[in-house]
This record gives sequence, structure tokens and C-alpha cells, in this order.
Amino acid sequence: MERTLSLIKPDGVAKNIIGEIIKRFETAGIKVVAMKKLHLSQKQAEGFYAVHKERPFFKSLTDFMTSGPIVAMVLEGDDVIAKNRKLMGATNFKNAEEGTIRRDYATDIEKNVVHGSDAPETAAFEIAYFFSTMEIVG
Ligand code: GDP
Repeated sequence: MERTLSLIKPDGVAKNIIGEIIKRFETAGIKVVAMKKLHLSQKQAEGFYAVHKERPFFKSLTDFMTSGPIVAMVLEGDDVIAKNRKLMGATNFKNAEEGTIRRDYATDIEKNVVHGSDAPETAAFEIAYFFSTMEIVG
């Protein structure tokens, strides 16, 4: 069993597709083992995306991530890091496969609806960034 962090970004929450996204996870056999809705501060968004701080889009990305509420979830399942990334689709929705969340709902490379951890080490950091162990119920 593996765990990963999923975020529904402000554009996804604004589109009222929280349920639609969770349905896709559940249909794929993935379990939601923790969930909360929150509104990130600029500092919290910068800490989460610290690996991208030298990128030219860092300011724009953290502004976007603080522009409205998000939903954070811990997902659990076999190979769930890769499975979630497949359900999400490519970063740029124009390159995302048909039927993926980003292909169906993203509107640009930044406003791409969902975040998902990309490796076990980032999943461990990102899950701990949002949840205490007591909040994760497998
Ligand atoms: P992810 O793992 O697929 O989310 O992609 P990355 O880790 O490479 O980038 C993190 C997030 O930064 C993406 O999900 C986008 O929201 C945003 N992003 C990535 N590339 C660009 C870019 O070229 N321009 C802008 N404005 N945002 C980007």
C-alpha cells in the first residue's frame, strides 16, 4: 500500500468538481484516507512549492494557489502515486491524454485543477505538510 498527496487547486474548487474528482479516484479503486478544505497563505504556498522557487512562474503559481480555497487529500492504494498521476494527466493539459482530469477541466498550464505527488519522497513531505498522522485514517 502506498500513499500520496492530492490537491484540488482553486480552479477545481471554483468549478464545483470536488465530487467529480473524488469519484474518479474511487472508481479507480483509490481510497481517500484524509481530507480537508483550506485557504493557503502566501507563506504556506511558497513552502509547499519551495522546489520551484527559482522558476520564472513561482510568483504566479503561488498567487494562483492562494487565490481561493483548495481541497487536500491523502490517497491510498497499490501504486497510488503513479495511478493518481495517470488520472491527472500531463502538467500541460494540451498534452494530457483523453479522459484525464486535466484534459477534461484544465484551462491553462498553471490552472490545471489538481496536484499529485510525483515520488515516494515528495509524497512523504507533502502529506506531512498538510496532515498529522492522527488525521489519516486508513
Ligand atoms: P506537476 O507535477 O504536473 O503539477 O508539474 P510541476 O511540478 O512541473 O509544476 C507544478 C505546477 O506549476 C504545475 O502543476 C502548474 O500549476 C505550474 N506550472 C508548471 N509549469 C508551468 C509554466 O510553465 N508556467 C506556469 N505559469 N505554471 C506552470
